[in-house]
Amino acid sequence: MNRNTTEDGALDFFKAQHQAFTDTLALWRGKDDMVPALLAQSYSSFEGNVAVQAQGQPALACHKGCATCCTMRVIATAPEVLMAARYIRAADTALKQAGIDLPQRIADADIKTRGCDESQRMKQRRHCPFIAKGRCVIYPVRPLACRGHASHDKRACIDVAAGRRDSVPISMPHMMVRSLIQNAMQSALRDASYVWAAYELNHALTIALEDESCESAWRAGADVFAAAAVSEISLVEMAETFDRIHAG
Ligand code: SF4
Repeated sequence: MNRNTTEDGALDFFKAQHQAFTDTLALWRGKDDMVPALLAQSYSSFEGNVAVQAQGQPALACHKGCATCCTMRVIATAPEVLMAARYIRAADTALKQAGIDLPQRIADADIKTRGCDESQRMKQRRHCPFIAKGRCVIYPVRPLACRGHASHDKRACIDVAAGRRDSVPISMPHMMVRSLIQNAMQSALRDASYVWAAYELNHALTIALEDESCESAWRAGADVFAAAAVSEISLVEMAETFDRIHAG
């Protein structure tokens, strides 16, 4: 296979990330805090690498407190869902004192959005249930999908959210680094016999918040979020791609 330098760099990066996640999984196997350890690694890898890859790119329009694009469907892996569930449980009392009932908001959003694909979701123009007072209340544990969607044009974001245009000029380094890190984590999870699928966030979080034992069950190999799996992502094709990369 002929590959250019960028493709070679991306594959090397994927393999290095895969190895790092494999090491973390081995270190934390059977321990309660495996999910936070995995996510701390994925967040810091994303932030560190995207800062390097985005050097010299046009400035981002995204800033803290902007939630213009937060009407999109969010897809996340099981560890990301479980991390958000941990955060929500820990913050629940304080949030309720501030008048924000996050579990109820998520359940309400799930009723309205369950089974909707990306375009049906966009047509609803329904804000993510985590937006409160104009900001994301789970920002420190927001999924990789949210981290990797970074815009160069706020006007375009507003127009997409209002249904006046279809797409925004997004930062390719953010999208690529997010995808490589998330896929490397999934590949390492697969090799270590954990369930590595991707899920619709509201539905999966509704399941996670209803049953605190989801995390230990997932660590024991159960597909606890199977009902929230995203059907258009083929795990068979992804697995074949992972195997080809490792064989190459
Ligand atoms: S989780 Fe946070 S960053 Fe992601 S879509 Fe929802 S509000 Fe936006």
